Amino acid sequence: MKTQVCWGDPLLLINAAHPMPEEEKPALVPVAEGRPQVWLERRAARLLQACIQAVGGAGRIVPVSGWRSRAEQRAIWEDTLAKEGEAFTRKYVARPGCSEHQTGLAIDLALAAPHIDFIRPHFPDTGVCGAFRKQAGRYGFVLRYPAGKEHITGIAHEPWHFRYVGTPHGVILSALDLTLEEYLELLEQYEDAGRPFRFRLGEYRFGICRLPENCPAEELPQGAGGRQLSRDNRGGLIVTTWSREG
Ligand SMILES: [Zn+2]
Repeated sequence: MKTQVCWGDPLLLINAAHPMPEEEKPALVPVAEGRPQVWLERRAARLLQACIQAVGGAGRIVPVSGWRSRAEQRAIWEDTLAKEGEAFTRKYVARPGCSEHQTGLAIDLALAAPHIDFIRPHFPDTGVCGAFRKQAGRYGFVLRYPAGKEHITGIAHEPWHFRYVGTPHGVILSALDLTLEEYLELLEQYEDAGRPFRFRLGEYRFGICRLPENCPAEELPQGAGGRQLSRDNRGGLIVTTWSREG
């Protein structure tokens, strides 16, 4: 594998305390079978498609909502507020600027049906949707708002909302049962201790370091096999390096 820089910043944290930087413009592509047209960041779109294919979900798993502009997020917020009231809206809709849908890395999925609820799509634990859940981490996707972590994410349990965090982070988050908030905290603890977080996946060994975002390029660790860089929107740069055994 060659050294590559991941411009999609798959570990960008967007929540109520960490809004989407206004100047950010993800490189978007349309997602096949989106209803209506759904857009995602290039790499996230490719891996979502691959995961859906892998579980035999083509035509059965429907991408409902991907990238949203700030204006669209505002319209959804105002529309939901008018129709469903404030308590519901605060629970399920992020404020304009604070939705990770604005990164192009988040996707709401539904089980194919004649009528799909746009705000709370039906995406069960069983069947093809359950198979998608099991495989998602390997394709870099995680259930972003799990039950029992509402006090950390600030968002109610959303069984339909998946977030692309890339590889190997999707597998790590699933294996350690961490939200993105908790994972970035963990990497910060390793930064304070002055050592990388190490993870082994198949024949690959990964080292994951958090450094200050303005760290000079020549001081960033190099991987024998390759390297990915992602800002975390908390002033940090996550450097993921890997090498292959044997
Ligand atoms: Zn969503």
